[in-house]
Amino acid sequence: MIAEVIVDITNGEVDRIFDYLVPSGMEFLKPGYRVLVPFGKRDIEGYVIGLKERSELDAGKIKPIVKALDETPVILPEMMRLSDFMRAKYNLRRADTLRLFLPSEMRKNRVKELKQYYVTLAPDYIGKDPAQYLKKTAQSQYDAAVYVRDSGGAYLNELNRNFSAAAVRQLRAKNIFLAEETAVLRTPYKHLPGGGAREVALTAAQSFAAETVKGGGFKTFLLHGVTGSGKTEVYLNCISETLEKGKTAIMLVPEISLTPQMFRAFRARFGEGAAILHSGLSAGERFDEWRRLLTGRARAAIGARSAIFAPLQNLGVVVIDEEHDSSYISENNPRYFTHEVAAFRAKENNCPLVLGSATPSVASYYRAKTGEYALLRLPERINKKPMPEMLCVDMRKEMRAGNPGIFSGAFLRELDACMNGGRQAMVFINRRGHSSFVMCRACGYTAKCAACDVSLVYHSEDEILKCHYCDATYHMLSACPECGSPHIRLGNVGTQRAETELRKLYPGVGILRMDNDTTRTKDAHLEILERFSRGEARILVGTQMIAKGHDFPAVTLVGILDADLSLHFTDYKAAERTFQLVTQSAGRAGRQDYAGRVVLQTYAPHHYVYTYARNNNYGDFFKKELNIRETTGFPPFTTIVRAVYSGSDEGEIGKCFSPALAEIEAFARERKDAFLFLRGMRCPVKMIKGDFRFQILMRVRGAETEQIIQNVYAVTGRYKSRGVAAFVELNPPNLH
Ligand code: ADP
Ligand code: ZN
Ligand code: ZN
Repeated sequence: MIAEVIVDITNGEVDRIFDYLVPSGMEFLKPGYRVLVPFGKRDIEGYVIGLKERSELDAGKIKPIVKALDETPVILPEMMRLSDFMRAKYNLRRADTLRLFLPSEMRKNRVKELKQYYVTLAPDYIGKDPAQYLKKTAQSQYDAAVYVRDSGGAYLNELNRNFSAAAVRQLRAKNIFLAEETAVLRTPYKHLPGGGAREVALTAAQSFAAETVKGGGFKTFLLHGVTGSGKTEVYLNCISETLEKGKTAIMLVPEISLTPQMFRAFRARFGEGAAILHSGLSAGERFDEWRRLLTGRARAAIGARSAIFAPLQNLGVVVIDEEHDSSYISENNPRYFTHEVAAFRAKENNCPLVLGSATPSVASYYRAKTGEYALLRLPERINKKPMPEMLCVDMRKEMRAGNPGIFSGAFLRELDACMNGGRQAMVFINRRGHSSFVMCRACGYTAKCAACDVSLVYHSEDEILKCHYCDATYHMLSACPECGSPHIRLGNVGTQRAETELRKLYPGVGILRMDNDTTRTKDAHLEILERFSRGEARILVGTQMIAKGHDFPAVTLVGILDADLSLHFTDYKAAERTFQLVTQSAGRAGRQDYAGRVVLQTYAPHHYVYTYARNNNYGDFFKKELNIRETTGFPPFTTIVRAVYSGSDEGEIGKCFSPALAEIEAFARERKDAFLFLRGMRCPVKMIKGDFRFQILMRVRGAETEQIIQNVYAVTGRYKSRGVAAFVELNPPNLH
């Protein structure tokens, strides 16, 4: 028997299937097993993807598999098909897709199952009073034996901790205690109170949505529900019923919404049947949660993007919450779009896919409008709570009226009222750090990173300049390196600056900050949110990180300090993103008993984004935006295809880039209608980490789109050079 194996090599262009001999004793091997195989001079890991009777190669050349690495297949048949799908659609190597399906720490056997000794009483002693078989003086042994008798068993380390280790040892020596090695599962967030699920009666709108979803078969639903309309209850209801039917479920949320609240709701509802997958878990925890899913001990998975690869069979529903979130697009290798992967799995399992959002992406809403998705609505907040009132402040007028500060008069008045009323406030700023850039007032010099073509950001806590692309740090300037002037100006406001100023204004008030800098460590963001939720602080300052999904009952005021920042990105999704950011931030205010208010500071108060966001008018925003996309030829009317070339040697890049561009240009001349735009040029960010960057940027449309994409894949695959990396992106969220 011959096994077809994909070897797991990290750096290499190898995307080939290798034949290996299945040695006797290993006939149990099936596709989906991990195996160790000889490759070159060493043994490396691989995945069995197929079996066959004979190979086309000489029998003498085929080496035998060294060993199987697991007791059962770890990649399910459905995932094998998903691998083929992703490979073709996104131009990926097989090994890179398969790798997505396993917890990274499992590869190279970096974590193993945690084995521990579990102690029980030998049959003769069960139920007996230990006084019958122990000496009167052996009090420590007596205590330990009573404990094991009453609890039915205990882990050895637990006994050693709570009783005399010597006594436990003696009991084992006398064969009164039997110790057996067992696998222990490291359950994350064990401290979260489980059970006590508060079953709510769904509103008419919620139950209509839930019943429609549960109607049967594969279909994609877009659940458009305003913030606080109870979308989560709809998801949980669908998942509950799925589990009752003996099926399984996946629910995706943006990484940042994976909060204790979310876990609590999930655990309370589904108990141990729920597995949590996210990057904040320790390697061991992640591995064990994954195993619980694979073995069927947990049947509902909740997690960020990568949880879409949860090893579940017989899916009954897949949910993508906050479907508009850009984190669902994987921007690094392996690049993929979660919605498409989810749709593949839902189709395979013939089950519904639910996309939910208060601010659906223009692309998804367009599909709902054209009938590809079924649209479901929750137009009102639970208990008809009013949407928060939004106040737009024109910052140009503030400036003219003599207030050059970062807070408008209106915001400060509202904040005063909020603080005096004993409530909480959230303050959004769209960038971390202290200020966005450092500029010389005399000559206009701006500090840039030496390795990347981007401005440095001042971080006041450590008095340094930081590159947000490569994390390099620099000394703060005392004078301009170009002209020597000491007048250095700091640009836009960042989260640190807002925090500092708020502390000055409210010295006695607790203030927390949440951004990439304060959430570096595991669980840091959970801690900040927990502390805010417990009322340890009254003001939470943060980037868009805090805009999503969180439910803090005492928050009555939301301040958006610089709404325009995301509007100025030169990117077709800028308006869409700003609308989402404003609506989502505003959605944090007044969710429970108190009415909420939002103060939005802007330099463009009449921009259509704000007009529609203020009136909660997604429908008209969508129409306007769609119209602009159509006239300018952007998605969803076209697909943006971008081939990026990077490397440290511009000459080497040219050797691949130029012929590839020429070939695509020739191809495009034959398909004038399909190509709306085609140009080869440097990327907007010309260099990252010392690598030059060039792009072939295209916008294509029409029925031939898929074929054109495949052709671009083929062309980029044809021209290769040492030290030059090339990849193709589809509708990338960032065109930097
Ligand atoms: P969304 O996800 O749409 O923003 P949530 O699901 O967070 O909204 O619900 C908002 C609030 O309303 C939550 O506190 C939730 O517990 C509560 N809620 C949801 N559905 C109901 C219901 N049917 N009855 C009472 N309260 C509900
Ligand atoms: Zn200067
Ligand atoms: Zn840099």
